[in-house]
Amino acid sequence: MGVYATTDPATGEATAEYPEISDSDLDTLIGRSAAAYRSWRTTPLEQRRAVLTRTAEIHRGQAEELAKLLTLEMGKPVAQARGEVELVASIYQHYADHLEEYLADEELGIKGAGTAMVRTEPVGPLVGVMPWNYPYYQVARFAAPNIALGNTIILKHARNCPQSALAIERVLGEAGLPDGVYLNAFISSAQVAAAIADRRVQGVSLTGSEKAGAAVGEVAGRHLKKCVLELGGSDPFIVLDDADIDTAAGAAAVGRLSNGGQACTASKRFIVADSVYDEFLPKFVDAMAGWQLGDPTNPETKLGPLSSVAGVEELDELVQDAVAKGASLLLGGQRPDGPGAYYPATVLAGVTPNMRAFSEELFGPAAVVYRVSSEEEAIELANNSPFGLSSSIFTADMAKAERLARELEVGMVWINSTSKSAPDLPFGGVKGSGFGRELARFGFNEFANKKLVRSP
Ligand code: NDP
Repeated sequence: MGVYATTDPATGEATAEYPEISDSDLDTLIGRSAAAYRSWRTTPLEQRRAVLTRTAEIHRGQAEELAKLLTLEMGKPVAQARGEVELVASIYQHYADHLEEYLADEELGIKGAGTAMVRTEPVGPLVGVMPWNYPYYQVARFAAPNIALGNTIILKHARNCPQSALAIERVLGEAGLPDGVYLNAFISSAQVAAAIADRRVQGVSLTGSEKAGAAVGEVAGRHLKKCVLELGGSDPFIVLDDADIDTAAGAAAVGRLSNGGQACTASKRFIVADSVYDEFLPKFVDAMAGWQLGDPTNPETKLGPLSSVAGVEELDELVQDAVAKGASLLLGGQRPDGPGAYYPATVLAGVTPNMRAFSEELFGPAAVVYRVSSEEEAIELANNSPFGLSSSIFTADMAKAERLARELEVGMVWINSTSKSAPDLPFGGVKGSGFGRELARFGFNEFANKKLVRSP
């Protein structure tokens, strides 16, 4: 059987290990989830709201301890780890505050006599499969709305963040969530498939790579289970000729380097208008160079290690492939000596379609900059990607930005800003970035039974 293990990415030191559970233990967990569903779905709203509010409060009260675990398990600089904990608290609070609103019956204006009401009801136990890049946030996007709605959850987290996974279950328990409503499961991919196939389970939500998404989506399809997939992205960051270049260059570095660049909605492809390219490029390289590698436990550090040495190797392969095929390396691109999963801020230009970096996701601190001669070319290049998650457009002309926003094949567009997440904004993509939406009302409705009740 495989294991879940904590390895500090800053040092390479393995500090904790947890075995996978057996098939019969998984069967027991699914049984507990199904039993909990029967009572949780009818639990009064005040009680659900109290649990969600308390969950938010505990996150704030234990922010330091929770943030430290993120830094230990996936190398997130501690200042950014605190930010993640606060965002998670705001997500639980959002669903506490909007419970009645999101659950309200909707009366349809129908022709003829009688009434037609659409109710929002839960569907049952769900499986969540989540990644390591934002260990609490990724889970909260799925768990908070579904706990609020009355569904129950079996959560398979990434195998490199087991202590963060256990902390989530502990916090929800301390907040008063009844036994079985949220269950952490250290299971294998085969056991995930078995859980999805189980007739007691009604759906699955996965955030992660396209490969994992395709595997889970295939099983869900075979067993007629609803699935939400939030996969990778290769977000374009478009700089038009009338943009404020200083602002754009600074924002571009933040968009590329936050969380070590390990975000599905990180800005990854910088598409710059010809007339401002020569001004933007050195300013962007300077801004990127300002993010020096450092110890992630130091509150001043902005760029820590990646989550694993394997992640560094994958990123470096894409960078070296581009350089070998003629791309220009303008910054970084050299793995530092010494222990830890460190990779420096890196900038590539002259990337062409024959290079892997053109179409694959760079899941780390490496940016690719392109020069384009028109807005049409910018949009065409932005859409020339298997992904369609988020995007940014920098321009002084709002009307133009809104027009171009319509032409981008993505789930989210941010004008004069990098992509961010907030509890009241829907999150999700199109094309290879998956389907379904998380957060806000949209995330609440993904695993809801919109039940029609028609009276004469
Ligand atoms: P994965 O997609 O492999 O992992 C994400 C989650 O899916 C983990 O819990 C993982 O479990 C699980 N998983 C993987 N394969 C299966 C499967 N066949 N059935 C069920 N569950 C599965 O991401 P990696 O950590 O390997 O990262 C690889 C790449 O994925 C990154 O470089 C990045 O491009 C992308 N990624 C995107 C993320 C996003 O936010 N959209 C987040 C993380 C990665 P386990 O840990 O046991 O393998």
